Amino acid sequence: MNYNANKKGYYGEFGGAYIPEMLYPNVEELRLNYISVMQEDDFQKEFTSLLKEYVGRPTPLYFAKRLSEKYNTKIYLKREDLCHTGAHKINNTIGQILMAKRLKKNRIIAETGAGQHGVATATVCALMGLECIVYMGAVDIKRQAPNVARMKMLGATVIPVTSGSKTLKDATNEAIRDWINNPTNTHYIIGSVVGPHPYPDMVARFQSVISKEIKNQLFEKEGRSNPDYVIACVGGGSNAAGAYYEYLSSPEVGIIAVEAAGKGIHSGESAATSALGKIGIIHGSKTLLMQTTDGQITEPYSISAGLDYPGVGPMHANLYQSGRGEFISITDDDAMKAGIELSKLEGIIPAIESSHALAIFKDKKFKEDDIIVVNLSGRGDKDLNTYIDYFNL
Ligand SMILES: *Cc1c(COP(=O)(O)O)cnc(C)c1O
Repeated sequence: MNYNANKKGYYGEFGGAYIPEMLYPNVEELRLNYISVMQEDDFQKEFTSLLKEYVGRPTPLYFAKRLSEKYNTKIYLKREDLCHTGAHKINNTIGQILMAKRLKKNRIIAETGAGQHGVATATVCALMGLECIVYMGAVDIKRQAPNVARMKMLGATVIPVTSGSKTLKDATNEAIRDWINNPTNTHYIIGSVVGPHPYPDMVARFQSVISKEIKNQLFEKEGRSNPDYVIACVGGGSNAAGAYYEYLSSPEVGIIAVEAAGKGIHSGESAATSALGKIGIIHGSKTLLMQTTDGQITEPYSISAGLDYPGVGPMHANLYQSGRGEFISITDDDAMKAGIELSKLEGIIPAIESSHALAIFKDKKFKEDDIIVVNLSGRGDKDLNTYIDYFNL
């Protein structure tokens, strides 16, 4: 079984490029060039060097001794929280800014909900001296003031979107409109393994550095490059795609995807796409999507902004449908407890997204000699206020 995208960008029945005619030239230019550009020696050299010198890679694979003792199994944490800007997102934005330069684009657009992808994009635009325009729903701009300030400090223009529900999907529509109007000089940086082909495959390849490093690091520590399980939280699915990538066709490595159950899968306030989603089209891609019976996208909910997405990338839809991946959903409450637990046991304050992945140990039992890698996608600084309010700290 092949769990990567085929030539047309399909993972099983999911993926593809369902885009308006007017967007076709832009997407087609990227599709025709992305693989050959990524394979150029110069590109690889520059990408690898920036990941090392600027992002701080390789990130450690840390054996979490006290957490392992508590759950009576061997748990390693892949420390993406130590990346520059505090999460894995920068791996992808570095890759895409280099791609944009190779395609002679000097103007970058992006959309952002919680602001994390906007910050990662504004960061690499500052690094490369490129113009950066970030579309953001007016409601999100109010909710995420610190990230708006960061983007402005980094030199980006943040454009408030006041149509529709004034949130992420409306910002996405505006970014797409911009790209249609500026087809020659503009690259659209998408922040996860979502969107029309080739984005999911391109972003997965940029993030695959995570599992490439895990293989080497685990071999050094355990004498084998394959863990028994690799676990990651899934919003759109990019940190998970990066952590799974090298293991997709190794059936002996269990793949566990953790989604946000919010206040409970059946509470009406959830983002557990695999459990609740049906096949539909979002962001130019055929995938699993939370929707009403007449096909309207359901507003998702999670305490964690990064998991608050009504769809999931096509790679993950296929991992779910084929049974290659085990999908678990975790409530707000359980994630928050797991976040405090890691802080107290290991001295690492995780992003609430990552706390979802850590929360599975409470109910799911592993063998004593199982080797488990949890992708710690980000650090918790950005979530401090949520932790403070939740625990009355
Ligand atoms: C954005 C984000 C996520 C969710 O995005 P994916 O594309 O699913 O990885 C998870 N963790 C952190 C820390 C994030 O910032």
